Amino acid sequence: MSVLVVGSVAYDGIEAPAGKVERTLGGSATYISVASRFFTNPVRLVGTVGYDFEERDHHFLRDRGIDLEGFRVDEDQRTFFWKGRYHDDMNTRDTLDTQLNVFEHFNPVIPEVYKGSRIVCLGNIDPVLQLRVLDQVTQHKLTVCDTMNFWISGAREALEETISRVDVLIINDEEARELTGETNLLKCASMIRAKGPKFLIIKKGEHGAHLYSDNAVFSAPAYPLSDIVDPTGAGDSFMGGFAGWLSYRDRIDEENLRRAVIYGSVMASFCVEKFGTQRLAEISRFDIDRRYDAFRKLSVIPARS
Ligand code: AMP
Repeated sequence: MSVLVVGSVAYDGIEAPAGKVERTLGGSATYISVASRFFTNPVRLVGTVGYDFEERDHHFLRDRGIDLEGFRVDEDQRTFFWKGRYHDDMNTRDTLDTQLNVFEHFNPVIPEVYKGSRIVCLGNIDPVLQLRVLDQVTQHKLTVCDTMNFWISGAREALEETISRVDVLIINDEEARELTGETNLLKCASMIRAKGPKFLIIKKGEHGAHLYSDNAVFSAPAYPLSDIVDPTGAGDSFMGGFAGWLSYRDRIDEENLRRAVIYGSVMASFCVEKFGTQRLAEISRFDIDRRYDAFRKLSVIPARS
């Protein structure tokens, strides 16, 4: 079953207590596609890079079986670059640099064959571009959208419109608070869902994630890890696991959404174990399912005696 992914393909500079990397393959669409591809085929990536995009990174995406028909190389520009520094608690980070480069003129054109993709993942990019994607897709079953504080403060109007048109919004707790001006997450969730999304997922870093729907709140734990090396891309890997797993299900109901949230959490938990996409490149579907089972055991609550 098909998943369409639109987002950034980037070079990232990352500073974390465990070390630093100057320039590694990253970007929202990269993480979403790689994570999603463990569950589904085809995964169709629409994104753009510049003349400095290296052949080995092209190979990396191709070797994972990601469909690159909608992937463009702009020979006049450099690839999007982002640099961040994580604080000691690893839950917070400062953005040190954002160079839009090729993204300044990016116009996502969805190839005809991609327009019928079952699930559309709008990775973290300018909401104006996310809206252009929504205008082009037709037969999808579900739209899933991510954003970040950069756009909440910088492109509010377009973001509000995007949010009003998607089925699932996935954001972190800090972003939910910024979006609503409300501190209590339950109230944030009601306010955001009133804007349009039927389902809202609020990620809380090492404290797991909440899924808000019409009748319920589902609380997913985070997988306890003793060494978190690099949280970059955890949110995107979450989205990839969530959408990839869900793309094969007939029904998008509460139970399947909960399973998808756990698969998303599993992918995020692998992602953070090494810098960049390194860990996602090592694991297998077997490892993923084993960790899913470990997740289930984490929160079995015995009945009252
Ligand atoms: P996450 O850690 O899941 O929030 O995603 C991190 C990824 O988002 C990095 O690989 C960055 O390249 C990418 N990123 C950071 N800022 C932006 C932005 N303003 N627009 C698009 N992608 C971004």
